[in-house]
Amino acid sequence: ARAELMKMEKMEIVSQLAASISHEIRNPLTVVKGFIQLLQTEPLPRETKERYIRIALEEVERAEGIIHDYLTFAKPAPKETEPIDVAVELRKVLQMIAPMAHMHSVDLSSSLEHGIVIGNVQYFQQCFLNLLKNSIEAMPNGGTLRVTVENQETSVVITISDNGIGMTKEQVRRFGEPYFSTKEKGTGLGAMVAVKIIEQMGGTWKVESTVQKGTTLTITLPARQLRLLSSQQSANS
Ligand code: ADP
Ligand code: MG
Repeated sequence: ARAELMKMEKMEIVSQLAASISHEIRNPLTVVKGFIQLLQTEPLPRETKERYIRIALEEVERAEGIIHDYLTFAKPAPKETEPIDVAVELRKVLQMIAPMAHMHSVDLSSSLEHGIVIGNVQYFQQCFLNLLKNSIEAMPNGGTLRVTVENQETSVVITISDNGIGMTKEQVRRFGEPYFSTKEKGTGLGAMVAVKIIEQMGGTWKVESTVQKGTTLTITLPARQLRLLSSQQSANS
C-alpha cells in the first residue's frame, strides 16, 4: 500500500509538470498569435511592423526557454522510477554543458563518488541541467564550476559550487519560486523545476550564497536502501 501511495504521488507530480508546461507555453503563444494577427492589419508603418516581429520572436524564444527548463530530456513514454547512479548521470550532464561552460570561460571540476538513488532519470538530468546552467550563467566573466558527490550510507550528497555573482539574502529566499528571475531573458522556472524534482525524490536542498563571491547548492538525496528494497520485494511476491 505504501508503494502504491508513493507511485500515485509520483504520477501526480508527473501530470503536474505536464499541466504546468502547457500552461506556461500558452502565454507566449497567445502573444505571438496576437502580434501575427496585428501584422495582418494593413497599412502598418515599417517600424511598427518591425516592433511586432521583434516581440513575436522574443516570445517564441521565451517558449523555447520554457521547454528547455522543463523538457530537455522528456521522452514520449517516460519510465517511472529506477535506480540512478548519481555519478554516471551527473557526468552525462556535465558533458552536455561542457560547450556552454567553454563559451563562458568556465572551468569544470568534479569529484564524483558512486551512489545510487531512486528516481526518474530524465527528471534527474533535467534537475541538474537547470542548476548547472544557472551556475554557469552566474559567472559572466568565467570561473570554476565544481560538482561533488559524496556517498554517505543513507544519503547521497551533491554540491554545486560556483564563484559567480552570488545572491542576496532576498534572492536566496526566493530561489525556486516560480517566475523569480533576475535575468533579462530568464524564465524563472528552471530552479522551480529542479526543486520540485529534488522534493519528488524525497531529497532536500540548501543554498548558501554571498554576493560577488559565489553560490553553493547542497542537495541531499536518500540513498537506495537495499535492505528495504529486498523486504519490499518479498512482500510483493
Ligand atoms: P532563470 O535562470 O530563467 O532566471 P531560474 O529559475 O533557473 O530562472 O533561476 C532563478 C533565479 O535564481 C535566477 O534568475 C538567479 O537570480 C538566481 N540563481 C539561480 N542560481 C544561481 C546561481 N548559481 N548564482 C546566482 N544566482 C542564481
Ligand atoms: Mg535558469
